[in-house]
Amino acid sequence: MTGETDLVVVGAGIAGLVVALEAATAGARVTVLESDDRVGGMLRRGRIAGVDVDLGAESFAKRTDAVPRLIADFALPLEVVVPNSGPAHLVSQPGVGRWSRLPLPRRTVIGIPADPLAADVVAIIGERAARRAAVEVLDAPVDPTASLADVVEERLGAGLVRDLVDPLCRSIYSQPAAAVPLPRLHPKMWAAFERTGSLLAAAGEVAPHAAGGTAVGGIMGGMWRLADAVASLAQERGAVIRTGVVAEALSSDAAGVSVVLADGESIRAARAVVATGPRGAAALLGAPASEIDEAATAPIQPAVRLLTAAVTAPDLAADPVGSGVIVAPGAHTAAKALTHIDAKWAWARAALPEGTHLVRLSARVDDSAGLDSATAVAREIAHLTGGRVDRDDIGEIVTTRWRDAVVPAESEAWTETVADAAARGIHVVGAVAAGTGLASVIPHARALAHELLAPTSVRKESR
Ligand SMILES: Cc1cc2nc3c(=O)[nH]c(=O)nc-3n(C[C@H](O)[C@H](O)[C@H](O)COP(=O)(O)OP(=O)(O)OC[C@H]3O[C@@H](n4cnc5c(N)ncnc54)[C@H](O)[C@@H]3O)c2cc1C
Repeated sequence: MTGETDLVVVGAGIAGLVVALEAATAGARVTVLESDDRVGGMLRRGRIAGVDVDLGAESFAKRTDAVPRLIADFALPLEVVVPNSGPAHLVSQPGVGRWSRLPLPRRTVIGIPADPLAADVVAIIGERAARRAAVEVLDAPVDPTASLADVVEERLGAGLVRDLVDPLCRSIYSQPAAAVPLPRLHPKMWAAFERTGSLLAAAGEVAPHAAGGTAVGGIMGGMWRLADAVASLAQERGAVIRTGVVAEALSSDAAGVSVVLADGESIRAARAVVATGPRGAAALLGAPASEIDEAATAPIQPAVRLLTAAVTAPDLAADPVGSGVIVAPGAHTAAKALTHIDAKWAWARAALPEGTHLVRLSARVDDSAGLDSATAVAREIAHLTGGRVDRDDIGEIVTTRWRDAVVPAESEAWTETVADAAARGIHVVGAVAAGTGLASVIPHARALAHELLAPTSVRKESR
């Protein structure tokens, strides 16, 4: 191998860190470049009311065993926990000034129910839509490129899409169900659908059998700890992690790849892994941003804005909406989701002072008015939880903006760009390649690392 290092990884989010850990464990020399002043990317720690909490991802989907397996394989000093079992709620506004808060059905996959006639499904979509969904159109075509909304509407009816599938899709994936195909969102559900030929049968197989909320797991003390633990172990095993350095350009020649940093420094490596998120990947691979944005709903992907607030309203002590709410698109609210953090995670409740709660609001749009003062935040929490919340109940508020969190739908041009880059020794990992969420990002990053490090792939330099 030539160059200063075997592998250069651009981006120290969980994808880049996992590649670095695998590579360092296999004995490769690896350098990670991170533009931020800390590692973790969307696994980020914040401190509110004296407690460390997640400002980005706060759980992992159990649709794969990626997180527990990573922890077990590397004996990371982390404890997997399950959220409290009270189901999250769906908030809608059936009339002016009227609010409906209903528990989310226990057995659905992105809103596709295992049993459309279950009482908790009927309560949300109504009897007529439930009866329609119960008679699936089984001979409809199975098209992997059709949007989730189209596939579900054709087979199970429009009411289910409007009242359950679309709100859940927007909440979990920050994208409307009409913008993204099912295989990209949930490969396991798609595989079950292809095999059984039925969305209802697939949901019956894939939906968790246990009480609502247990489709996800967490880490005691917060998901940010996963990134920290992976980074520490990678460093212990020899990986070099440099923060505060921006990779500006990537090129390749017969001998390897070169990364040019913002200050002009150049790093040579046998191979590079781009783990930056969609915008950075487009820039480094030389694709115009529009290439990966072209199939998305908006030309520029929206930012995700979160507000995390300490709240002392006594009404929250009863966990009025379980672990939180998602809001139906038609409701007049400034937030599209609320997480009652200490209702969801026992470790957070144990760490907080008596009577203090932590609430996270996801703004409906980045610059939405309506969440710009403690008074507005109190009003929004009151609407969404049904509890009494006054301005004086609101303590510290931390605002977080994620500008590269929404992964655009795949386009053919982007797929080709990624394949061309791979042929030149430049590989892409992370949500932009694997789909959103740790359950997808981690196995993909591990698989790529193993592929790159396989004896036929890596010619190790004698040291
Ligand atoms: C608010 C929020 C909540 C979420 N909740 C969940 C959840 O509960 N469960 C779940 O599974 N997933 C969740 N996700 C999604 C999940 O966090 C992501 O899919 C995953 O963390 C993406 O990891 P990544 O490594 O691909 O990217 P990132 O975490 O974005 O990491 C990319 C890194 O690259 C760095 N970078 C970018 N450009 C450059 C450059 N030119 N040079 C050097 N460094 C660069 C960035 O600073 C960043 O640190 C959530 C995301 C957000 C934003």
